[in-house]
Amino acid sequence: MPELLIFAALIVIIGAVLLIARRRPPTEAPPKEPPADVIAPERPEAALPEVVVAEPEVPEAEPVESPVELEPKVARRSLRERLGRSRRFLADRLSEAFGHGPNEEMWEDLEAALIQADIGVATATRITVDLRGKSRDRKLTRVEEIQALLADELVSLFDTERERALVFAPEGPTVWMIVGVNGTGKTTTIGKLAADLSERGRTVALAAADTFRAAADEQLAIWAERASAQLVKHQPGADPGAVVYDAFQFARARNLDVLLVDTAGRLHTKTPLMDELGKVRRVIEKEGKVQEALLVIDATAGQNGLVQAREFADAAGVTGVVLTKLDGTAKGGIALAIEDTLGIPIKLIGVGEGLDDLEPFDPKTFVDALLA
Ligand code: GDP
Repeated sequence: MPELLIFAALIVIIGAVLLIARRRPPTEAPPKEPPADVIAPERPEAALPEVVVAEPEVPEAEPVESPVELEPKVARRSLRERLGRSRRFLADRLSEAFGHGPNEEMWEDLEAALIQADIGVATATRITVDLRGKSRDRKLTRVEEIQALLADELVSLFDTERERALVFAPEGPTVWMIVGVNGTGKTTTIGKLAADLSERGRTVALAAADTFRAAADEQLAIWAERASAQLVKHQPGADPGAVVYDAFQFARARNLDVLLVDTAGRLHTKTPLMDELGKVRRVIEKEGKVQEALLVIDATAGQNGLVQAREFADAAGVTGVVLTKLDGTAKGGIALAIEDTLGIPIKLIGVGEGLDDLEPFDPKTFVDALLA
C-alpha cells in the first residue's frame, strides 16, 4: 500500500509542476513584425538585399581617413577644351567687345556678353560698373589689363576659400545623396562618381531609390556595371526609404566605402518630392550620416537652374552643386550666378557624357578656361 500512496503523490506533484509551467509568461519577446513601410526585396539571405550586378572582387576595405578630398584627375583634355561651347561663346563675345578698345561701346558690349552667358543681369551690371570704376581709378588704357581685371572680378564672385572637397565618413559607409530634377544628369553623375571612386580603389554601392521613374534602375544597373559598383534595388514603385535602408545595411555589412543614393526628381508634385527626400535622409540618419547631398543642375537650363537650386537647397539640405552639361551650352555664366546668389559651393562639373567627364570645380581654373 505505501507504494501506491507514493505513486499517487508523485502524479500529483508532476501535475502541479506542469500547471505552473503553463501559467508562467514566456521569457522571450515574440518576434517583431517588420515595419509596414519596409518592403523586403526578394532575396535568398533575409538580412541582405538583392544585388543585381555581378559582384566584382571586393578588396579588403582600408580604414578611410576623414575627411578626404577627391583629388582632381589628370584630365585627358584640358578644361578649356572640355568646356566647349561655354568657352567659345563667352571668349568670342569678349574678344569682340575688347576689340573696340576701351571706349563706351566696349563697356556696353562687355555687359551684354556677360548677360548672354547667363551670369544674371544684376551681377553683369555690377561687374561692368566695378570694372569701369577700377579701370578709371588705375588709369588703365590697355585692353589686356582690363581683361586681367575682369578675370579677377569673375573669380571674386566665388568664395575661393570655401571647402569644395567631397566629404568622406570617418568610419562606416560614406553616404552621398544625389538630388535634382529629372534629366539634369543625376544618374550619369552617379555613374561618373562611382567610376572615379572605383578607379581610386574605393568600394562602391549604388542605391536605386528613384523607384518612381520607369527604367531608372535599369539605367543605374548599366552604370554600376561600367563602374564596377554594386547595385541595391527593389521593385518599381517600392518605398525609397526601404531601398536606402537595405542599401545602407548592405554597404555596412560588406564594409564598402561609399554608398551613392539616386533619388527621384519629379518636380510637378513639389511638396511630396521634398518630403520624400527628407524621408530618405532620415532613414540613413537613423544609423549613419549623409555626408553630402549633391544637387545636380543642368547648365543648359540657364537661370531656371537657379530656381531649382533654391527649392532643393531649402528642403534637401544641399551641401554642394554638380553643374552638368557645361560642354553643351553657351550659358557657362550660370556657375557664377549660382554661387554669387545662393552661396552653395559648386563641387563638381560635368563636361560630357562619358565616364571621365566629371571634374572637381576650381573657380580660378574655371574662369581661366572660360575666358581663354
Ligand atoms: P537624370 O534624369 O537626372 O538621371 O539624368 P541622366 O543622367 O539620365 O541624364 C540626362 C541626359 O543628360 C543624358 O542624355 C546624359 O547623357 C546627359 N548628360 C548628363 N551629364 C552630361 C554632361 O555633363 N554633358 C553632356 N553633354 N550631357 C550630359
